[in-house]
Amino acid sequence: MPPRDGPIAAQRARNVRFVQHTHELAAADGRALPVILLPANTRRITALPEASRTAFLDKLRGVLEETFAQPLRDNGAPMSEAEHAARSDAGTPRAALPEQSPNAVGAQVEHLSDILGASCATCMGECCNSGGTHAFLQVDSLTRVRAQLEQDGIATTRDSLEALYASYLPAQHYRESCVYHTRGGCALPRAMRSNLCNRYVCGSLSQLTRAMESEGVVEAYVGAADSVRLRRVAHVSRDGARGLPLTK
Ligand code: SF4
Ligand code: SF4
Repeated sequence: MPPRDGPIAAQRARNVRFVQHTHELAAADGRALPVILLPANTRRITALPEASRTAFLDKLRGVLEETFAQPLRDNGAPMSEAEHAARSDAGTPRAALPEQSPNAVGAQVEHLSDILGASCATCMGECCNSGGTHAFLQVDSLTRVRAQLEQDGIATTRDSLEALYASYLPAQHYRESCVYHTRGGCALPRAMRSNLCNRYVCGSLSQLTRAMESEGVVEAYVGAADSVRLRRVAHVSRDGARGLPLTK
């Protein structure tokens, strides 16, 4: 039997307080809407270390080697559902993806993607901390990027793709996070991000989606907390995130 007041129980208790605090701020803002707790990126911005840049480009070179050993893919060829899911470059948009909104399932989905994007902007990309010096760029993602560029009439070589990715490396990023994780979001254009980056939705965002669907609303309040404090609270809607001042 685990101790009743171990670290997990303590964190749960803190999360309950963070949610309660977010509810209080939402009530003061005067709207009865779903309230969801998100993670919070609290890293500091720092110069992208030369070692990280080198490590990223070294790994990228290896993946490009494998990518170009394969025949050029036809992105327009029919795919199974599983292949489509694995290769999708147009999943649910995240904080850092302001230029994109998904295609065709109507206004409700567009509203939802805007709201999820606003929520990720409030979190500021905690999940990107796992991107390290690989940015999740594997062969399947680079095969898709290569095929897309060729389809657009841009001839690709290993060197030209490496140079393209290198050109988007920022001068500054969040300390010890993904090489492309900047204050303004992801420094890579959406189409050049990994399949995983483009389709990942964390548990909190899934919860937010379910809450909005069950209550039939297209806005919500989100709190973003690390393990210690509630860091940010915002009203999120298709118009973006409107931050609320923290009172504690
Ligand atoms: S997917 Fe989740 S963890 Fe990632 S940026 Fe969005 S809210 Fe944060
Ligand atoms: S490439 Fe962009 S979206 Fe992917 S982990 Fe890095 S910063 Fe996040």
